Amino acid sequence: MSQRQLAMVMDLNKCIGCQTCTVACKTQWTNRNGREYMYWNNVETYPGAGYPKNWQNLGGGFDAAGDLKEGVIPSIQSDYGVPWDYNFDELQDGKQLNPNVEPTWGPNWDEDEGAGNFPQDNYFFYIPRICNHCSNPGCLSACPRDAIFKRDKDGVVLVDLDRCQGYRYCIAGCPYKKIYFNPKISKSEKCILCFPRIEKGLPPACAQQCVGRIRFVGFLDDEEGQVHKLVHKYKVALPLRADYGTVPNVYYVPPTEAPPKFDAHGKIIEGSNRIPTGELEKLFGPEVHHAIKTVKSEMKKRKETGESELMDILIAYNHEDMFRLDNNYYKDTALGKMVDSRYSAGKNSSKLKFFVPQEAH
Ligand code: SF4
Ligand code: SF4
Repeated sequence: MSQRQLAMVMDLNKCIGCQTCTVACKTQWTNRNGREYMYWNNVETYPGAGYPKNWQNLGGGFDAAGDLKEGVIPSIQSDYGVPWDYNFDELQDGKQLNPNVEPTWGPNWDEDEGAGNFPQDNYFFYIPRICNHCSNPGCLSACPRDAIFKRDKDGVVLVDLDRCQGYRYCIAGCPYKKIYFNPKISKSEKCILCFPRIEKGLPPACAQQCVGRIRFVGFLDDEEGQVHKLVHKYKVALPLRADYGTVPNVYYVPPTEAPPKFDAHGKIIEGSNRIPTGELEKLFGPEVHHAIKTVKSEMKKRKETGESELMDILIAYNHEDMFRLDNNYYKDTALGKMVDSRYSAGKNSSKLKFFVPQEAH
């Protein structure tokens, strides 16, 4: 456990699946140097196989006794999909636009497919996913090299690239499959919660750029913060697949409202809901009922009285209110260092041009 824990809350009622967060992350961190197939942030259509394909069935995490479960290392070819490019240069010669490899899978492959029958009961919703910066990380437990660590001052989970030997046990151990193998440097890499931005008081790029304003970022113990209020005070934000046992620190406000179903004659079935309760329980546990009930009753209260702190938080009138990063805390505890020294020192990480330790200047 770290002294303090940074967390993110995502309100799934507001995600429009635009992938702006995905692009913000990719252009900042993973569009080069062996990271091309990695999506530290991706947005999935649920139900769907997701990214990597069928990640929920690939093992890892902990059993009820607290022992690490066996897991699978997904294949770049079949489970992530080889990233492809297009023959833009040949278009002026009259050639058709074609991918340079035959695409077989990729992020967002099953976009908007969902489940059910149109128009009676089809449904889907979006789930954006990043590393959960877990309090009991499966990736860390699985690593025989002690190469993965959790920062004491904010709980961010990072890979020490100098210790990592590319064994990939971490990938098998993470039930969310949010740590990736970089074949170019034979190391594992993952979401770093944009810690160089966070240490400057800026939110992670995915959260800053989010068009739907669905993402709140802050310390879980900051009682005045939106993250604390959504997770602990109102209990409307829940971890994804808590049954994996890694104690994730990304929380989701579950989809609260869905259109009713239609009968065979196209008539509305009153009181019906297209999203099966079992699916929501599988993702967010039995607490999902309390969360949905609370959001609905606060919506009603707001309509009737005009007052609801919870609705004010979820509407997020002011973008800057969504992020409480406590700049001074970082100034004091990080002693002015721009990046974590264990992450930035050494021969491997110094090759990563964007991590220049401040002392080097
Ligand atoms: S989500 Fe996976 S990679 Fe991230 S901290 Fe948890 S176990 Fe590790
Ligand atoms: S930018 Fe925001 S609204 Fe758009 S897909 Fe990402 S999380 Fe959803």
